[in-house]
Amino acid sequence: MQNAVIYARYSSHKQKEISIEDQLRICREYAEKNSMNIVQEYTDAAISGRNADKRPAFMQMLSDSKDHLFEYVLVYNEDRFARNEYDAVNCEEILKQNGAELVSVTQPLPDGPERIILKALRRGMNEYYSAELAIKCVRGMENNASKGKCTGGRPCFGFGVTPDKFYEVNPEEAVIVRKIFQLYTEYNMTATGVLEECIKNGWKYSDGKDFNKDSIRRMLSNRRYIGDFSWNGVEHFDENLRIVDDKTFEAAAKKLLINRKTGARVRATEDYLLGGKVFCGECGEKFVGDSGKSTKHTNYYYACKGRKQKKNGCKKKNIPKKLLEDAVLKFLIEGFLTDETIDAISRMAADLANKEAEEKSMLQMYEKELAEAERKMKRATDYILTHDDSECVHDTLVESEARVKELRVLIEKERDSYKPVFAENIAEWLKSYRKGDLEDLNYCKNLIEMLVNKIVIYDAESESNASKVLIYLNTDPTGYYEVTPSDIKNGCSPL
Ligand SMILES: [Zn+2]
Repeated sequence: MQNAVIYARYSSHKQKEISIEDQLRICREYAEKNSMNIVQEYTDAAISGRNADKRPAFMQMLSDSKDHLFEYVLVYNEDRFARNEYDAVNCEEILKQNGAELVSVTQPLPDGPERIILKALRRGMNEYYSAELAIKCVRGMENNASKGKCTGGRPCFGFGVTPDKFYEVNPEEAVIVRKIFQLYTEYNMTATGVLEECIKNGWKYSDGKDFNKDSIRRMLSNRRYIGDFSWNGVEHFDENLRIVDDKTFEAAAKKLLINRKTGARVRATEDYLLGGKVFCGECGEKFVGDSGKSTKHTNYYYACKGRKQKKNGCKKKNIPKKLLEDAVLKFLIEGFLTDETIDAISRMAADLANKEAEEKSMLQMYEKELAEAERKMKRATDYILTHDDSECVHDTLVESEARVKELRVLIEKERDSYKPVFAENIAEWLKSYRKGDLEDLNYCKNLIEMLVNKIVIYDAESESNASKVLIYLNTDPTGYYEVTPSDIKNGCSPL
C-alpha cells in the first residue's frame, strides 16, 4: 500500500467553495478506492484576502515531503494546490524531487491538445521565468535550516525534535540506523535482506509503520546520518547529530551506486523518449521498449507488443530506438517548428494561460466591489451635501470610504501577483528550442511531450525493408505528418 497525504484549502473569498471537510472526505474516498494509506492531512483555512498567501500547512507539507514518507499528495482539485501557475509548477517540482506526486482527485487535467502543450510549455518555461517563486516557497524553511532548526514536519528516522524545534538524536532509533548500515556494508546484505532483518527484529517507524525496500535505500543514502542537515543549498553540519561514521556511509553509497547500475542494465531503464506514444500500424498494439545484446553492446529498440508477446501474429519488426527518436526530433525541430507555427502556438498558449489566471484571480471581484463602494460613497456624499448631515448617512460614508481604501490596496496587491503571459515570450522561448541540444534528455523529452500526440508505424509499401512513420501532433490530433526516412530500416542493425 502506498502512502498519501491530503492537502485541503479553503479561501473565504469565493462563494461556491467546497468546505474543507468535504474536500477531505472526497480525497479520503479516493484514497480508499485506490488503496492508498493516508498518513497525514494538511488543511489551510484562509482567513482573509491578506492572509491568502500564508499557507502554513501547505509549507509544512512541502517540507515534510523531504522525508519521503509519502508518495502522493491528494488535492480536491488543482486550484486547491497553489495560488498561481508558477507557484504550482515550482511546488510540484519540489514534491517530485522528493518522490511525491500530486494527484487531483476530481479534476484530472483534460488532455486536450492546448492543455498538453500549455503544461509542457510551463514545465519548460519554469526555469526561464520564475526561479524567484521557488525561492519564495522555501525561504521560511531555509531560515530555519540555517539555524540548524527543524524545517518542519516529522524528522526522519533516528531523530527527534526538541521543544524549541532543534533536531536531536533519538538514541533507540540511532542504534537501529547503525545496525542497518552495518548489515548493508559490513555484512554485505542486499536492501531486501536488510529489510527482512528489520521485520524479523520488529524494527519500524515510531508510528508503527514498517520500513520497505525504498525506505531502506533512502536511509542508506540520507546524509543527515552523517550530520549533514543542509537544506536547499543552505549548508549546515552538526557533529552532535551524527549517527553514522563517514567510512560506513561512503561504503553504503558506493554499494548503492553499483547496485543501481546493475539493476538498470537488467531492467533496461534506458530512457525511451517516445514511450507510450508509438503504435503499430499493422496490428494496432503499442510499441514498447526492448533491448537485445550483440557481441559488444546492448541495442535498444521499439518493438510491437503484439509481435513481442506473440499474441496476434503481427510481423512488424523492431525499430532501432535512436533512429526513430532522431527522425522524430529532427522532424519536430527542422520540419515543424517554423516561425509561423511557433507564433500560432504561442498565441494560443498565452491566451489559455491568461484566461486561467484570470479565472483564479480575485481582481475582478475586487474591482466590482470597489466600483460599488465608490458609488455608495458618492451617493452618501451627495446626500450630505444637499440635505442635513444625518448620522446614518454619515456612517455609511465612513464605512464605504474605509472599504474603498482597503480594496485599493487589495487590488494593487492582486495586480502585483498577477503576471500576464505574453505570446512573444513564449515564442522567443520556443525559438530558442530550435537550437536545443539533442543529447539533452530533458530537452528532448519536453519537446516530444509538448508536441507529439502519437506515432504510428507501418511497413513502407515501396521498400520492403523500411518503415513508414506517421507523426500526429498535439497541435492538430486529426492530421498527421509522414516521415519515411530511408535510414529507418527494420531489423537489428547495431546502433
Ligand atoms: Zn504489430
